[in-house]
Amino acid sequence: MTARVIDGKAVAAALRTQVAERVARLPFRPSLAVVLVGDQPASAVYVRNKNRSAEMAGLVAQTIRLSASASQAELLAVVARLNTDPDVDGILVQLPLPPQIAQRDVIEAIDPAKDVDGFHPLNVGRLSDGLPTLVPCTPLGVMRLLADAGIALAGARALVLGRSAIVGKPMAALLLAADATVTIAHSRTRDLAAECRRADILIAAVGKPAMVRGDWIGNGATVIDVGINRLPDGKLSGDVAFDEALRVAGAITPVPGGVGPMTIACLLENTVTAAERRRSG
Ligand code: NDP
Repeated sequence: MTARVIDGKAVAAALRTQVAERVARLPFRPSLAVVLVGDQPASAVYVRNKNRSAEMAGLVAQTIRLSASASQAELLAVVARLNTDPDVDGILVQLPLPPQIAQRDVIEAIDPAKDVDGFHPLNVGRLSDGLPTLVPCTPLGVMRLLADAGIALAGARALVLGRSAIVGKPMAALLLAADATVTIAHSRTRDLAAECRRADILIAAVGKPAMVRGDWIGNGATVIDVGINRLPDGKLSGDVAFDEALRVAGAITPVPGGVGPMTIACLLENTVTAAERRRSG
């Protein structure tokens, strides 16, 4: 058996087109403000890609750059200004932040109605209560991929490997809201391979290249690989041993070209959703 490879690039392109169509129907252009503190090359690349995709979908995108030595007060002042700017619909503070700034304080300072990353505790709470809210972009992208691939979630055994606030926890909440039977595994989980093998849907978000081996995967399972790991030779690897998994799984996402492109597409979607809700209410 060879697994069907889920084409995240194609699904993301279709979602970006849908977003552009929603934008074209609005009487205003939704606007995304990205705040970048410091000059970490990886963050700078992400921010450039976000801005380019936003503009291509018809959104207004602005980047506010602060130096790596910026104080927490300076960053909070920028967030406060964006919160009250009626023309700004979405605010994203690029993480990670330099050590002098408490990430938690910054996330909590963002207006929840403009929190397009979905990390504010109010939005986290609404997600956990199964209420409509702004949902973190990567797990939202995974849900969109599963829907597009026609994977049935109700009653399915889903295992989420990783419990971060950015991926694992919101992922588990979304799968639960979709009536899957959800297990969350992490670094203290006993007999991880056996836990994984039981899953109909396995979501890997650990940040360890090729940690999930082929014999950890149940026959015909759907495998979603969130991991993005840079190898010493410069290549990217997911958290799943792709070639091994391909022989066992029913469907699988590649790295790159799987979940990655969905994250930015969902950020655009969240920005338009935030704009529609805020400007109509
Ligand atoms: P974190 O480091 O915040 O979380 C990793 C999780 O994996 C933790 O819950 C940790 O457990 C668990 N873990 C680590 N090692 C093991 C192990 N040996 N066995 C079992 N569990 C383990 O990472 P993120 O959630 O932020 O990211 C995960 C991966 O997803 C990374 O590769 C990241 O680059 C990628 N990513 C991709 C995105 C995309 O757009 N595609 C977006 C965001 C992230 P514990 O809690 O016990 O420490």
